[in-house]
Amino acid sequence: MVIDFHVHAFPDKIARRTIETLKGNMYNAFGLRADVSHDGTVDDLRRSMAENGVDLSVIMPIATKVTQYLTINAYAEKITDNRKIISFASLHPYQDNVKEVLDGIAARGFRGIKLHPDYQGVFADDEKFIALVRRAAELGLYVTIHAGKDMGVPPPNKGSARHLRGLLNKTDCSRVILAHMGAFREWDEAEGLIEDFCVYIDTSVVSRFIDREQYIRIIEKRGADRVLFGSDAPWENPKDSLAFLKASGVSDTEYELITHANAERILFGG
Ligand SMILES: [Zn+2]
Repeated sequence: MVIDFHVHAFPDKIARRTIETLKGNMYNAFGLRADVSHDGTVDDLRRSMAENGVDLSVIMPIATKVTQYLTINAYAEKITDNRKIISFASLHPYQDNVKEVLDGIAARGFRGIKLHPDYQGVFADDEKFIALVRRAAELGLYVTIHAGKDMGVPPPNKGSARHLRGLLNKTDCSRVILAHMGAFREWDEAEGLIEDFCVYIDTSVVSRFIDREQYIRIIEKRGADRVLFGSDAPWENPKDSLAFLKASGVSDTEYELITHANAERILFGG
């Protein structure tokens, strides 16, 4: 059983265009040519999962505008089948009905939300961002936050380790999931964050950018019971993310925790 706790997919009619735009951003910001593991649609995500050894994917949508939450969360609910596909919800820290929307998200059975400081244009330690994460924690929702640099957005990054620290100083860390090993391409700062806060981390899209020793050190420091396997597909093929994890030398018990047991606890564990 493998659960990929960080993937992206979009409604059919915007999927390919969205992927092309995001690819363009990566090229413009960093000269990176991205290879994608699926074309952005849920159908092609399912194909990729079958080919690359993933049983269940957790989709992480992002409300980049204050008006997007309705369509995003309706779509998230529609595609969630609790077997192969589960979607988190999303909302924007600056919409004026954050409390009601979060109540609705929790009432409809979503396990969590995804936030992205850069794509939402809000610093992670902004008071509205902090208020949203606090309220989500009170409702028992998990909050995945893009952490560290972003391959599509040039620095300074609104979700860098410094701003995450400002957020975590003022919120309950126990249901916060910092994507990309705690802080993408700020690996030393990521180690500091996981020493100081009880956050979960996911392993997504790091295999080409982190040195293997630091990757395993971060896992051991965090403790495998708070590490979630993720790929960030289509930006990394889950097969490559899994191979990187396997080759890191984690024990069988740690591998089981990271690839599915922790995720099962979050998704299905009451
Ligand atoms: Zn992502």
